[in-house]
Amino acid sequence: MAFEIRKIGIVGSGQMGSGIAQVSALAGFDVIMNDLSEDRIHGAIAKIDGNLNRLVERDALSAADKATAIARIKPAPTFNDLADADLVIEAATENEEVKRAILAEVCLPLKAETIIATNTSSISITRLASTTNRASRFIGIHFMNPVPRMQLVELIRGIATEDETFTAARAYIEKLHKTVTVSEDFPAFIVNRILLPMINEAIYTLYEGVGTVDAIDTAMRLGANHPMGPLQLADFIGLDTCLSIMQVLHEGLADSKYRPCPLLVKYVEAGWLGRKAQRGFYDYRSGAPIPTR
Ligand code: NAD
Repeated sequence: MAFEIRKIGIVGSGQMGSGIAQVSALAGFDVIMNDLSEDRIHGAIAKIDGNLNRLVERDALSAADKATAIARIKPAPTFNDLADADLVIEAATENEEVKRAILAEVCLPLKAETIIATNTSSISITRLASTTNRASRFIGIHFMNPVPRMQLVELIRGIATEDETFTAARAYIEKLHKTVTVSEDFPAFIVNRILLPMINEAIYTLYEGVGTVDAIDTAMRLGANHPMGPLQLADFIGLDTCLSIMQVLHEGLADSKYRPCPLLVKYVEAGWLGRKAQRGFYDYRSGAPIPTR
């Protein structure tokens, strides 16, 4: 019988981990969430609770279904608490050292058949798989942000990923009513290989004084019909994540066309990481976003 995923463990309860938890619980999966502290885990569950309440207010979800979904999500303060998960999704900070340390440790208490996935935006699946004790049961499941709204999920096999792992991962995504595309294991896969150089170029355009934040975003919204300007999108993704993806492209493809813009580096060094830090190319602290340049 095919391996069936019922319980999802999530490592990293930030923007992506909490989104993955929300859609998984709504689709009937049990979810256990891990992060660096219990406070962060409880903060993530409170955020999901707020999101679900808004769906109830808009009549997009019944109060009973909301109560069932939120009750399916439990904190897992240690990796041992993830032991009975069928699928563990690593959605921690986009930093290879952080991910390698997590993956080497998180696999130890898991059942032999448990699948491990990473939500990395750019890092080699084969290289991350090699840090676990189960490269054949390791796969890239790349959700888009915000997870509840975005239809696409990229699936990326590592060199050792076996068919059963791929089939089980695809069945999980289909139960979330999302669409799968398959990408080969090259830096940043498909979506970010194309998207991030565009965002980086927008930051160069700002850096070189070709336009202001407002001019660049308005130009791309009204001139290219993008739903969101590239700098607004960068803030939404997180500038640390954007920088990390550009570094992976630059190093992985050894082509100077991927060099990260120095202005992006400066914003990250300042801790201006975008929406999640309340400040990036826009300042969100007083409500309406105000351009910072
Ligand atoms: P985030 O900064 O919102 O969340 C990262 C979380 O990981 C934080 O809560 C942090 O405390 C936690 N963390 C860090 N080290 C940890 C550890 N050792 N153990 C447990 N938890 C740890 O970042 P995010 O935007 O949610 O991104 C997470 C992953 O998803 C990254 O790999 C990113 O590339 C990927 N991703 C992001 C986007 C996006 O648009 N933001 C889209 C697709 C994929």
